[in-house]
Amino acid sequence: YPSDLIRNFSIIAHIDHGKSTLADRLLEVRCFRRPHSVWKLRIDVGAKLTGTIDKRQKGLNKQVLDKLKVERERGITVKAQTASMIHKFAGHHYLLNLIDTPGHVDFAWEVSRSLAACQGALLLVDATQGIQAQSISVFHNARERGLKIIPVLNKIDLPAAQPDIIAAQVQSTFGIDPAECIQISAKTGMGVEKVLQAIIDRIPAPSGDESAPLKALLFDSLYDKYRGVISLVSIQGGVLKKGDKIASCHTRKKYDVVEVGIMHPEEVPTTSLRPGQVGYIACNMKESSEAHVGDTLHRAGEPVESMPGFKLAKAMVYAGVYPVDSNDFLKMEESIKRLILTDRSVEISRESSTALGQGLRLGFLGTLHMDVFRQRLEDEHDANVIITAPTVPYKVVYGDRSGNRTEIVSNPTNFPDITDSTARVKEILEPIVNASIIVPEEYLGDMMDLCFSHRGENLDHRYLDVTGSASSRIMMTCTLPLTEIVTDFYDKLKSRSSGFASFDYEDAGYQKSNMVKMTFLLNNKPVDALALIVHRSNEQEVGRQWVKKLHKIIPRQLFEVPIQAAVGRRIVARETLSALRADVTAGLYGGHYERKLKHLENQKESKRQMKRVGSIDLPQEAFLDMLRTK
Ligand code: GDP
Ligand code: MG
Repeated sequence: YPSDLIRNFSIIAHIDHGKSTLADRLLEVRCFRRPHSVWKLRIDVGAKLTGTIDKRQKGLNKQVLDKLKVERERGITVKAQTASMIHKFAGHHYLLNLIDTPGHVDFAWEVSRSLAACQGALLLVDATQGIQAQSISVFHNARERGLKIIPVLNKIDLPAAQPDIIAAQVQSTFGIDPAECIQISAKTGMGVEKVLQAIIDRIPAPSGDESAPLKALLFDSLYDKYRGVISLVSIQGGVLKKGDKIASCHTRKKYDVVEVGIMHPEEVPTTSLRPGQVGYIACNMKESSEAHVGDTLHRAGEPVESMPGFKLAKAMVYAGVYPVDSNDFLKMEESIKRLILTDRSVEISRESSTALGQGLRLGFLGTLHMDVFRQRLEDEHDANVIITAPTVPYKVVYGDRSGNRTEIVSNPTNFPDITDSTARVKEILEPIVNASIIVPEEYLGDMMDLCFSHRGENLDHRYLDVTGSASSRIMMTCTLPLTEIVTDFYDKLKSRSSGFASFDYEDAGYQKSNMVKMTFLLNNKPVDALALIVHRSNEQEVGRQWVKKLHKIIPRQLFEVPIQAAVGRRIVARETLSALRADVTAGLYGGHYERKLKHLENQKESKRQMKRVGSIDLPQEAFLDMLRTK
């Protein structure tokens, strides 16, 4: 394909504005027009999953691009997918490469890596909802990359659609001429032809010099049982051919290119990949870890400057993951490692806990990412796991005569006791974010309260709509500690705005903060898996809440059990579990010997499923409940 007939684009939008529906529709329209063609998609979830998009199979392939079960259930896109289609226009056959992007803030990393392979983006806005928090963040991300942005107003089939008002909002928020907005219904297909035409007319063809040194951006990879790692690349300059010797800027390793091709419909080998093309290469990489997303590949012996612009995936939420049955550790570890092959943004290391045994510490991009990962683990790998309370990464600055030393702590177990002067803690810094909330005006007060109660600062707001009518939307911004939003902030935001608020955030560095480690003691022994890091202003409340919860969950013992929350040596909350007289054979006399025996037998049985925590034995279930955060 000559590069002037290629268009690389992506669809960006707030969640639920119709990205997946439009992606399906674009592929389907082509199929409808040319029924003899077979349009298939390669879905890069590691396994061979291919689907054929065809109107006749409509029921089957609803939202083919969202393949993972968890994505279907939650209606969100987690992993970016790539598909190519050919569109005949003005006598030419154009090769259109669609790179689907996830919609949630946790997956901004996936979004930015897919955008790097594009020259343009369709900015999809629901015409009944208008601009939402993530419409703004994805817009800025695309604009920063210099992409041509085509505004598309979706769902105009709905009576509540207000395309003109939303077009004005697009103008006031993004400075885009309302005349550029294309009105469509991804559901009925209305206007979708115009979108295809706009892709060809408005998005520039990829540029790149064929005679320049080879420069290929690696933007994704998948694993094939037979050929090893397959890398998805976008050619920025030069020509890549089968048989070439290439090298990685990042690892400096050299490879022989065994196969090149495009994803159309599935992997189709070609003789070469030219500038502007998006395609795959197989080059005998054995380990997925060799394919670094964001890496630049060049011809061996002809080094080029590596391409900038990839924010490394940065884990912001950490949690310990343990098998319910501690004998299953190796099995769990294997499942998790297999899953990570398809989601490289997860950080992994080993850890252990006295209560839980051997486990893994995983780092996620956000809490939704964590939930999605857990669900995938359960769905795809059948693993029964315990996930400990999420923790954000804190910076702990220690100081002594030889100077300051900063340590990143993302596990409460390693968090110092700041009340202990021998720990030499100078200060604690916590990650903060710039948050933006878009909400109908009438909820502004509630949203401000919510932010204040989560230690929000620098609150500000402005109107999104030009006129201050009753339905006017407000964009509110503030800074929030990340730890405040990893728990239940999002749920509260939704319930206190009757579901109308949308929320997004970006990293805003670190800020000095008064965090302390809270430990829980059962019968005067600390339980390491329960430790938390909390802000000093919350210690009473959090302590009391947890102690109450533990009191409810833990069954009474033969002796009295104090349940305490402590910060350093200070007890901040306490409950006492009164003793139980549990002589199970009491009251059974003489002739009931058999019954007595059976009772003892039962007791033995349940003993086996006990977990020993501190000096008390807990039934497995109570133990799990204790750790479950929700
Ligand atoms: P995504 O989260 O951006 O991928 O959004 P989806 O494509 O999953 O769409 C979200 C919801 O909006 C789904 O229930 C779709 O059926 C619906 N939807 C998408 N486009 C349209 C449209 O043009 N009209 C109507 N009425 N509903 C639509
Ligand atoms: Mg979707």
